[in-house]
Amino acid sequence: MSTRTWCLETTDRGRYCRLPALTRLGLTHGFSCRDLGSGDAEGFLAGILGLQQLPLARLRQQHTSTVHDVSAGLVKTPPVGDALVARQAGWALRLQTADCLPLLLVDTRRGHYGVVHAGWRGTLAGVLHQALQALHSEGSGPGSTWMAIGPGIRACCFEIGTEVVAAFRARWGERTRHWMHPGAGSRPHLDLAAANRFQAAQAGVPAAQVLDTGLCTRCRRDLFFSYRGDGGATGRIITLAGRP
Ligand SMILES: [Zn+2]
Repeated sequence: MSTRTWCLETTDRGRYCRLPALTRLGLTHGFSCRDLGSGDAEGFLAGILGLQQLPLARLRQQHTSTVHDVSAGLVKTPPVGDALVARQAGWALRLQTADCLPLLLVDTRRGHYGVVHAGWRGTLAGVLHQALQALHSEGSGPGSTWMAIGPGIRACCFEIGTEVVAAFRARWGERTRHWMHPGAGSRPHLDLAAANRFQAAQAGVPAAQVLDTGLCTRCRRDLFFSYRGDGGATGRIITLAGRP
């Protein structure tokens, strides 16, 4: 029997989701629910989490594999990229998603942490692999790295086209059959979480150190914005992670 890894926290403005085990590992974090909206959910969530005093690092997310290290300094205009890493406490990191997976990383030995935006394009580009490399390039090790998989579209709902199947096969060959499943229609479904678990394992992160909410944004439209579930026009889940 699997135990639920996530919980909902209720505030007077709305709810957010978190993984208690990840909080215990030292990473303060939250994923905004639909009822928090997306306009000013960021500032509200930062306040609730106690991260409001920290500089907030944002990205212009474009499904790349580009990683930014916040210790290089905050630029006024968010840079193009899809992962952020911090080598010291004192930063809040932000992602915006609606179906793509938000991934959170923390190294419990060194205290380094990061966030990764992983849709199918970013996953294919190896964005998680690049973020783990950046995290491990200065003393962190995969043995003390934990990853958490937030709410995103799951294999139950993620129909993909033949060009996506071909692109994954071209990069990972036969292994991709573990991530592709037949759906109700003629198109296969992609298990993005499994494809990212594979990248984590390749980087040496033990499987037991991957925490997964298992939450599907399209199935749980009662809780989360879903690009596909809402027909394209929707809000965004705000992911915040930091160490005060
Ligand atoms: Zn689903």
